[in-house]
Parts: sequence; structure tokens; C-alpha cells
Amino acid sequence: MQRGSKGFTLVELIVVIAILSVLLGMAVLRIASAREDADKKACYTDRALIARTYQLALIKNSSTSLQNFIDDPAIYGTYYSVKPTCPAGGTYTAINGKIVCSHPEHDNEVSAGSGTTVEVTSNSLILTIKALASIDKYNKNGNPLDGQKLNEELKEKLGDAFLPVEDYIIEMAFGDKYKGSGLTWRTDSAGPTTIYFAGDGSSNHSNWAAYLVVVDGVLYKTKLTEGNGSIRTAGVAQLYQKTGTSLQEALAKDFTVVGPIDY
Ligand SMILES: [Zn+2]
Repeated sequence: MQRGSKGFTLVELIVVIAILSVLLGMAVLRIASAREDADKKACYTDRALIARTYQLALIKNSSTSLQNFIDDPAIYGTYYSVKPTCPAGGTYTAINGKIVCSHPEHDNEVSAGSGTTVEVTSNSLILTIKALASIDKYNKNGNPLDGQKLNEELKEKLGDAFLPVEDYIIEMAFGDKYKGSGLTWRTDSAGPTTIYFAGDGSSNHSNWAAYLVVVDGVLYKTKLTEGNGSIRTAGVAQLYQKTGTSLQEALAKDFTVVGPIDY
């Protein structure tokens, strides 16, 4: 029998089909494995988002439990347009201040603090604020960092831990005046001290206020409250301008120490 010009023998066909099957199987396995890795990563990111949002909600006015924050549609509806969920169908449970996914492969934990306290050293909010506070190269000359540049810089600094600083995060941490397209992050010098806070880009210092500020490596939160007990922003302008008082006196008046931030 002549080979080549008359096509394949049955054996050759079977061999070719077998090889193709093995290659296809390997490709399917690789795609499935990549998909599992992507799901695991997305699940972690979703839980980190819940953790950070929960911490901000606690700072602002909420005393709800972490589990309730995960489960209650009325609560998460306030903070998310789409509820963060496990892409592989796992469910989230709060265990000792951590958010755990029920999916057996998603065993990485996300810390969210516990009770109504905010952990200073090991949570994603602090991580974000640390990174924010270390981004000052655009501000040395008085140029604020806009929202897009802010996220680019954070992505560079935080790597896998990066979550975009969205409007609602800034709103909860620094006040509703600061959300929107004018979102900026400023470092402003008050004498030898640098104050970090989110500003609206306005040169009108008297408008500046925040729930949180970082002064000399220490995170402070406002101690001012509304009549219903919810927390409201305190004037950063007062710190900045030090009208008739020292910086420390101005801080002590409206802010309380959360803790040091090493950066
Ligand atoms: Zn999961």
C-alpha cells in the first residue's frame, strides 16, 4: 500500500485523534484551573471589600455585627450597588472578626476587626490609609492627586491587596463633600507637620472637613456627633489654619486617637 498520497490509514487516524484528545483534555484542565484561581482571587477581593466597608460603616455610625452586615439586604444595599458574593457559590460567615468563605478551596481569611472597634494594625482600611498617606509626591507642590491617579498609585503600592478607592469609600472615611469627580487626596503642611486628608480640590480651606485624618503618623477620627448619635465630620480647616490654637489643641478638641500608622 502506498502511503502519503492516499491519506491516512485507520491506525494513523486513531493515533492522531488520541493525541488531539489528550491535548484538548490538557487545555480544558488548564482553563478550569485558571478559572478556579480567578474565582479564589475574586472571592478574596469581595470579602476584603466587605471588610473595609464594614470598618468604615463602624467609624461612621453603625454598631451592627459583621454577620448582619454581610447578610442584611437593607444594610448592604446602603453601601453596594452589587452585593459582593463568592463567584463559586460559597457563602460568607463571620468567625472571630474574620470573613470566611464556605467553599473548600477558598480558605484564605479576611480580617474585618471585631465588635464595634476598629483594628489599627491588621485591616484593609488601615492598609489603604497607610498607602494613601505615603502617596505625597503629587502634593509637595500643592497639586492634589485626582481619583484615577490615586487608584493607579495605590495599585502600585498595594499589589494584590489593591481595591479601588471608590466614591463611597472616600465619602464614608472623609465626608460626603469629597466624593465625585473632584476626588483628591491632599497632604498639607501645617508648620513641620503634614496632615493627610481627602479634599475636594478646592482652595477654600474653610470647607475642609473629614471623618478621619492622619497627623504625624497618627490616625484620628472625629468625635463630633449628630443629635441621633451618628458621627459627623470635623473641620480639617481648623487643624490646618490653627486659628488661635496649637495643632495639638485643635486636634484634641474635635478628634480622638485611633492609633499610630507606621509607613
Ligand atoms: Zn468563595
